[in-house]
Amino acid sequence: MRFPRRTSTWFTVALATTMPLAAQTPTGAERRVLVRAGRLVDVASDGAKADQGILITGDRITRVGPYAEVAASTPNAERVDLSRFTVLPGFIDAHTHVFLDGTDYANQLLKQSIPYRTIEAVTAARAALDYGFTTIRDLETEGAMYADVDVKTAIDRGVIPGPRMFVATRALAPTGMYPLTGYSWELDMPAGAQLVDGADNLRRAVREQVKYGADWIKVYADRDAYMGDDGRLHSWPNWTDEELKAIVDEARRLGRPVAAHARGWEGIDAALRAGVQSIEHGDGLTPDLMDRMVKQRVYWCPTVYVGTRPQAGAPPLRATMADLKRKAFGDAVRRGMAELIAFGTDAGGFSWTENPALEFGFYARYGMTPIQAIRTATTNAAKLLGRDKDVGAIAAGTLADLVAVDGDPLTDVTVLTKVKWVMKGGTISQR
Ligand SMILES: [Zn+2]
Repeated sequence: MRFPRRTSTWFTVALATTMPLAAQTPTGAERRVLVRAGRLVDVASDGAKADQGILITGDRITRVGPYAEVAASTPNAERVDLSRFTVLPGFIDAHTHVFLDGTDYANQLLKQSIPYRTIEAVTAARAALDYGFTTIRDLETEGAMYADVDVKTAIDRGVIPGPRMFVATRALAPTGMYPLTGYSWELDMPAGAQLVDGADNLRRAVREQVKYGADWIKVYADRDAYMGDDGRLHSWPNWTDEELKAIVDEARRLGRPVAAHARGWEGIDAALRAGVQSIEHGDGLTPDLMDRMVKQRVYWCPTVYVGTRPQAGAPPLRATMADLKRKAFGDAVRRGMAELIAFGTDAGGFSWTENPALEFGFYARYGMTPIQAIRTATTNAAKLLGRDKDVGAIAAGTLADLVAVDGDPLTDVTVLTKVKWVMKGGTISQR
């Protein structure tokens, strides 16, 4: 895979001229940068403020206010002039797979080594950051074991560029319920998830995943979705209640939330009964399930874009599921779930050469206002991660994760697919 590199000669960094160089560019936590935002999208309200100053000290924002005021009191800070642009918090994609490249799944598991896949994952992480995603929740490596923990560590140490990552490592599914399947029984095939049966073994598996660095536990709650005569999308639950509850209980004991892949009614129902924190995909969400999610404060990662892309040889149900999701999305917004929808794309399920920010446009077309759509990838996703004090907002105290776009995302969210400038943790992303 190759990702286009864009140059960024258009922004200027102007240093104050009266101070000696060492004082102008102090290192580490003392470094101060003042970003001038032509417009600043305030995700807490529903508007934008003109000509704002964002003061960054080290990796955090220390002050936000009218540019003239902030500039007057901080004459020695490095300046970044984004007065032609609209600045927003860095985006969060709460459902990615940096270990997938959008090509044939079996081919990736059978013909690519984990070291090779990790090289691709490094490139995917870089692409995510370039698209403006400063945080991702990467929901399992699809057979690449715990290598997501290594990618995360390398990013945290500054070895490679990339978003801050919350990782799920291997994910859990029962025997026979996750690819690769359908091969001769004489072959010992690799699997895209950790295959475990029985409550005690599942507790052990959760402990093992946490031991090796899982921030989240990902579980496949169902499989084989099908349309019923009642017009609902049904599915086969993967677990006994005892098993699924053991996973959630053990994860909770270890301080790890659980994300459940669930497409049909039965899978979503089982996941909600077990007490998971997020439903992934949720194609078959119905009003009764939505009301339970609102009551339980469970988030939904809709992954809309991936299901709408043209796909050669796709099963006929695919188009029906895309229609179902469109309807479910509109219903969810109307039923009070707008704050519980966290931006999630399944990127990697499609190539990282395609911009996951295309997802924004679908949310707007399916019933959200632009600011609601922006909140899915900022406020809402930050709350899902339990990190809303750190990410998803531009305010004193939060990490300095910023993006700049041309145009007005409050009237047209598709401008979010053209991010011109990215800062993560106070560091401007060079590209
Ligand atoms: Zn996924």
